[in-house]
Amino acid sequence: MSYLKDLDYSVVQQCMHCGMCLPTCPTYVETKIERNSPRGRIALMRAIADGQLEAKKAFADEMYFCLGCLACETACPAGVDYTQLFEMARAEAERSQALSSPPRRLLRWVLLDVVLYKQWRLRLMGRLLWFYQGIGLQKLVRGSGLLRLLPKSLRVMEAKTPTIRRHFSPDLIAPEEPAEGEASYRVGLLTGCVQDLAYSDVNRDTADVLRANGCVVITPPQQGCCGSLHAHNGKYETAKDYARRLLDYFDLDRLDAIITNAAGCGSHLKHFDRLLHDDPRYAAKARQWSEKVKDISEWLVEIGIRVPEKSAANSRVTYHDACHLCHGQKITAQPRELLAKIPGLDVVPLPESMWCCGSAGIYNLIQPEMADKLLQRKLDHIATTGATIVAAGNPGCLLQIQNGLAARGTPVEVVHPVTLLARAYRR
Ligand code: SF4
Ligand code: SF4
Repeated sequence: MSYLKDLDYSVVQQCMHCGMCLPTCPTYVETKIERNSPRGRIALMRAIADGQLEAKKAFADEMYFCLGCLACETACPAGVDYTQLFEMARAEAERSQALSSPPRRLLRWVLLDVVLYKQWRLRLMGRLLWFYQGIGLQKLVRGSGLLRLLPKSLRVMEAKTPTIRRHFSPDLIAPEEPAEGEASYRVGLLTGCVQDLAYSDVNRDTADVLRANGCVVITPPQQGCCGSLHAHNGKYETAKDYARRLLDYFDLDRLDAIITNAAGCGSHLKHFDRLLHDDPRYAAKARQWSEKVKDISEWLVEIGIRVPEKSAANSRVTYHDACHLCHGQKITAQPRELLAKIPGLDVVPLPESMWCCGSAGIYNLIQPEMADKLLQRKLDHIATTGATIVAAGNPGCLLQIQNGLAARGTPVEVVHPVTLLARAYRR
């Protein structure tokens, strides 16, 4: 089986080599090397689909050097479906085992197959991490120099560990919560995996905002990871299993929408129809699902945001476009509209707001040098705005920018836009 050879050839041959995507590609702009560009990568993928190239290490390295930020897809006049090409290319890289080594296999197995597979395992790991951080052991270990004994990949991972919340989503959100006032909609809420451990407060804020906007909120407590990390990291078949499982948790006929507040998940969730198109049991439900999945900002603008009455203490806010929101889902106006509705906020533009911050799923763990270059570029732009708050609609971006600002000692708050709206309602 070859993922690229089996892909519809019309997708593989869409690129007409015009190069208009090149100035928008963060890896190309940093290196100026053709193979690090969308055009170069698509040429490699096509060579494999045509049987002119074997998927060896150089190909796999290139596919993992790509951020999957999809800026090229936005820029492309030919409508290249880079999302699909990227997922198939990473799956091809994994199929070839060109990067396979015992530590890499072990790490991927533990993270992608064991921990994320069952929600209780993820939460158990979260509890242990919370305990480790809460009793000060993390600080002690970091200060002791013990971490120098770890391989570099684990050191990088440790440095980027998110602060785990004391309470996870099921502790904060009931399986069914009523709308405030008259109910006009009934929506399902996705709580995510990393989001559930590190940003369960954002999930609570999302539920509050939905309720304040006339939505009954249904949040199945055992729902797990949506599989976007798997689809974006070469485990395409596993991603299908995760999608089926998630579909089983929601009664779509009784819901007007499925709400996500994580851009990386949202752009994957909207493609369940494609992911499961040939599954006789799930194809129809996956189509229904894809029609109903909405980013929180998209949904609120669609139904009309209730404007908060009370003004915030004057704060200057700038907005970073998460790649999988602006490029993956073409959602740029709605989060800005949401922020503009909050009285007292001075929303200022962020230069290069649609440039990747380097988080890109687990890119900052596997390509730390490039990820850091992109982060520094983002932080420099944030500094020019004079903002005291940065808003972004994706947990990966929140974490990346938070870590970066903390390392620089810059006292800027990093929050999800929905949190600002929830705070305004609570006032
Ligand atoms: S996804 Fe991003 S990094 Fe990859 S080729 Fe496209 S623009 Fe470049
Ligand atoms: S803009 Fe589109 S068609 Fe042009 S080189 Fe890039 S991917 Fe190919």
